[in-house]
Amino acid sequence: MLLAFYTENISKFFQKSDYTKMMRSAKIGYVKNLPKIDFRKVYQFFDSPITTLDCGEKCAIYNPNGIPFCCDICHAVPAVYHQEWNYLQKNSNFWHRWKPNKCAEKPTSAEIIRENLPENMILLACRGIPCQREHRALSCRQFPFFPYISDDFRFIGMTYEWEFEQQCWLISNLSQVSATYRQEFINTFDEIFNQWPEEMESYAIKSEEMRTVFLERKLKLPILHRNGKCYLLNPGNERLSQVDPDHYRKFSPYLIKPNSEKSNAPSK
Ligand code: SF4
Ligand code: SF4
Repeated sequence: MLLAFYTENISKFFQKSDYTKMMRSAKIGYVKNLPKIDFRKVYQFFDSPITTLDCGEKCAIYNPNGIPFCCDICHAVPAVYHQEWNYLQKNSNFWHRWKPNKCAEKPTSAEIIRENLPENMILLACRGIPCQREHRALSCRQFPFFPYISDDFRFIGMTYEWEFEQQCWLISNLSQVSATYRQEFINTFDEIFNQWPEEMESYAIKSEEMRTVFLERKLKLPILHRNGKCYLLNPGNERLSQVDPDHYRKFSPYLIKPNSEKSNAPSK
């Protein structure tokens, strides 16, 4: 499906420049003549918080800019499909086109980043915090996850954007992901893949990339399965072992429980 966010560290597919290292997600290819998706419905049925905690408060204290990493344009630039942009323009004034000078700390070149942007997508920036939750883009709703597609082309569940292991608190606390959120995620992508099968191919490529990265790291990768259970997947043979989600790996700076310092972060 749609989202492509831009992050500080990026997949090998996009290792061309510092700029493209900001890419934060999933979309790799692009599709022409897409059937129309009803984004009002997509948003309506994919709206539950990921967790009962305010994870924005957990990560923002580690961001020098004082806001959640996934809402910081210096860490992540949202990309949405043109169809979604049309919907957002008609229904809110919360979003505008992203401009290269958005992040003073990391001046970037529009040409370089756009060179890697799929043709059917557009880069946006929101007005920032406070978040208008009803107008969050799909990429905001799914972050930090993407659909994991197995080598034999099955959408088996969710895994995370591994480039954000050091920033995103939730990645170190996967046991906090609610069952309702997981189900909505699965339902949403089932529907999107049903209408846009080519999107599943994009995520299959991303999943393959993750297997390669984790093979190199000699690590298994977490899967929040569509069957409600949690697994570690062997990237070599895709064998699954069921695990207690409390035992998933944690990453610095979330190895220890952060204090409850207040921030102005939105609830994800
Ligand atoms: S998903 Fe939550 S924890 Fe992760 S970067 Fe966003 S606000 Fe922070
Ligand atoms: S979650 Fe809200 S504040 Fe954060 S990037 Fe998305 S729309 Fe903007």
